[in-house]
Amino acid sequence: MKWMSLNDLRESYLSFFESKGHLRHKSFPLIPPADDKSLLLINAGMAPLKKYFKGEEEPPRHRMTTCQKCIRTPDIERVGKTARHGTFFEMLGNFSFGDYFKKEATAWAWEYLTKVIEIPEDRLWVTIYEDDDEAFEIWNKQNGVPADRIIRLGKEDNFWEIGSGPCGPCSEIHFDRGPGFGCGRPDCAGVTCDCDRVIEIWNLVFTQFDGDGNGNYTPLAKPNIDTGMGLERLAVVMQGVNNLFEVDTVQNIMKAISDKAGIKYGADEKSDIALRVITDHIRSTCFLVCDGVVPSNEGRGYVLRRLLRRAARYGKLLGIKGTFLSDIVPVVAHENLTAYPELTEKLDYIKKIVSIEEEKFSKTIDGGTEILNAIIEKTIAAGADTLPGEDVFRLNDTFGFPLDLTREIAEEKGLKVDEAGFAALMDEQKQRARKARADKGDFGWATETLDLGDVTAKTEFVGYTESECEAKVVALIDADVNEVTGTKNGGKVIVVLDKTPFYGEGGGQVGDTGLICADGLKIEIKDTKKTNDGIYLHIGEVVEGSVSVGDTVAAAIDTERRAAIRRNHSAAHLLQAALRQVLGVHVEQAGSYVDDKRVRFDFSHYTAMTKEEIAKVEEIVNEQILKALPVNTVETDIETAKKSGAMALFGEKYGAVVRMVKMGDFSTELCGGTHLSNTAEAGLFKIISESSVASGVRRIEGTTGKGVLELIAEQNELIENTARELKTQNPKDIDKRAAQLSAELKTEKAEREKLNDKLAASAVESLLNNRSKAGKFTLITGMTEGLTVNAVRGVLDKIKSEPDAVAVISTCVDGKYNLIVSASDGAVKLGANAGKIIKELCNIVGGGGGGRPDSATAGVKDGSKLKEAFEALPDILG
Ligand code: ATP
Ligand code: MG
Repeated sequence: MKWMSLNDLRESYLSFFESKGHLRHKSFPLIPPADDKSLLLINAGMAPLKKYFKGEEEPPRHRMTTCQKCIRTPDIERVGKTARHGTFFEMLGNFSFGDYFKKEATAWAWEYLTKVIEIPEDRLWVTIYEDDDEAFEIWNKQNGVPADRIIRLGKEDNFWEIGSGPCGPCSEIHFDRGPGFGCGRPDCAGVTCDCDRVIEIWNLVFTQFDGDGNGNYTPLAKPNIDTGMGLERLAVVMQGVNNLFEVDTVQNIMKAISDKAGIKYGADEKSDIALRVITDHIRSTCFLVCDGVVPSNEGRGYVLRRLLRRAARYGKLLGIKGTFLSDIVPVVAHENLTAYPELTEKLDYIKKIVSIEEEKFSKTIDGGTEILNAIIEKTIAAGADTLPGEDVFRLNDTFGFPLDLTREIAEEKGLKVDEAGFAALMDEQKQRARKARADKGDFGWATETLDLGDVTAKTEFVGYTESECEAKVVALIDADVNEVTGTKNGGKVIVVLDKTPFYGEGGGQVGDTGLICADGLKIEIKDTKKTNDGIYLHIGEVVEGSVSVGDTVAAAIDTERRAAIRRNHSAAHLLQAALRQVLGVHVEQAGSYVDDKRVRFDFSHYTAMTKEEIAKVEEIVNEQILKALPVNTVETDIETAKKSGAMALFGEKYGAVVRMVKMGDFSTELCGGTHLSNTAEAGLFKIISESSVASGVRRIEGTTGKGVLELIAEQNELIENTARELKTQNPKDIDKRAAQLSAELKTEKAEREKLNDKLAASAVESLLNNRSKAGKFTLITGMTEGLTVNAVRGVLDKIKSEPDAVAVISTCVDGKYNLIVSASDGAVKLGANAGKIIKELCNIVGGGGGGRPDSATAGVKDGSKLKEAFEALPDILG
């Protein structure tokens, strides 16, 4: 076997399976398909292909091969400590959807390992499920693996099963790296030992049963094959390195970090672990951000935040000063250029997100660490070994200091965290938040807590084309959330119909309002929501008559309101496309809200938009409106939609059939909302504001159609009111009039200041009259108010030519006292020293100051002592 690079290994694997009839597909994003709610992040090659395994969708080919980006946070504690675990890694895989099975899968795996990349057979071990005699026969007879190198293991190790559904035995291939890499114990268990000597490289899963979850298995008519081999692990084997961080491309990232830290890799196990952890986490981080994850406090965003912050903290442990992670991003992008050029394409964006988060964290840490240290000290002083739940909760709640970090720092000090206490407080807080939400709205809780009992049929939505229809009442729920059969005049009610033109809030679009009527019955519908099961809830109030389950009613939406909503929703699509044109393709929708008044659109972008960018975006959207582009909606499957370039939303639920909304060639998005039939119907689009929502997320608010008219009317009114206030006849002149007025004000202000100075001067001048004799000198004293030190000094210049004058004046502005001493040239010659005088005075009044022999000033601490100070002057001068 010879040394092979990571990139060559990936290519050799994929092309080997292509030669066996597999369709090569590039890695799917780390964010699972929107309809898969079971997973936060892709953790295996088969994860994005589940729908093909389950038969929910027809695969493009029944044999596929991929090299899939994976994130496994459950392995986080092992990362850096074992040779073979990363939170990020690439998984090579070949898959059969009801096509080939065990014989081919094992034969090709063996052929690839022993013939293509020439791993010596005697370094390999095979494990199988203990009851899988078929697998034993095939490995032994067909592939020639000696019986004593095939190990039978129990369900725990070699049976793949999650709850009920498709499952089956698996077979793992392990590689023996030799005694030098192991635990060194004489009784090392080899394949089953957790040490790094014999490592699992490839797992072949034979999905051949349908399990009922109780241990009963029915064979599947068409069994599947799902295999997974860690690319970095394979590279460890082929490159003979110690661990997956020493693999060719990965070690360059680690090198960049160790350079930054000024610490050599290999010098010390503790710092080596830190280097490996940072290397791993920054890889995960780059790939997550690239795939559209933004740091936040929940879900995927939290995984990212945690990885990034953990990396930052390990950096601090290594003694790296300041932030450094964003400097490593380009290295990660460069090392992955061959397989993942998108990292380089989005380099600036990734760097920005990383640096914003790292800076934010560094502030949190600085503030929180001090408090945590105090908590730790207190705990130790009390002789306890557990940090109190309340303290840890407060640290988290008030300072955003993450629990896992508290836990790690506590562990370093040999302390535990009162997890139960923390969890209880966290839970209480959640309850409070839930209650606050429930208290807020009439039926705001409806979709969350409603139990609709036996109503299971989805409501038929006809609102894409109809604004009213006849429907049957299927269920009624009253204000106390009881399912009822009939309801009387005046009651708040939720109506469930078999069919409806009302759009149920979703995809960022508000629910419709309108009327549900029948003879003698009128229900005003104030909002419409949709349950996860597709049941529409019409929330309203019976204003006339009563209604019962089984009644036939006419349901009609408020069409004018809906038209305004459609205008704003279509504008949101144009806006997204325009933003991507102006700012770049890193712009992804992070949230949106559309009602009849406005469109609010949140998107990933790292800095405030400039005035020019905002104007450009607005101009592009309006151009598309004026072009009168036809809006077409097509129903298709998600793959076709994505291929035709439709922008899909992360986290949005797309079923087997998706709705693609196309506006000319300008915008194509997957969307279930209601839209215009032509962009021209929007009238005009106007951006109202651009602001920040969270780090890396901006928000634009805008409006269309009548909203623009209202905006213009508002602005006109403002102009007219202003004109009236400014007393201009013609509103067009308000700017000129305003400029004129402010110029007038300026002149007046200057004049007033001049006048003030004059007044001041004459006030001080009269002060110069208060004269007395003190020793050789003529002493001039006075106490003033409201005059600045400079104004007083200006006047005192006048005594400079007198033969023996010494002036001491105090002034008070805004309750602050100052002393000013001035001595004429003649007085200085006679021995007067203003600086010395003021020092003596300060001994009495407190405060401090100083100056030259002819002039000195001081701030006064105690104004009430001034009189005493003046009285002391004859002595000071005498
Ligand atoms: P292990 O027991 O070593 O953690 P696993 O049983 O969790 O492995 P599988 O779920 O069977 O692994 O995944 C298939 C392959 O993916 C493994 O054989 C291994 O080569 C690779 N792999 C799994 N987890 C990691 C990881 N955290 N880092 C790198 N490679 C991994
Ligand atoms: Mg594992």
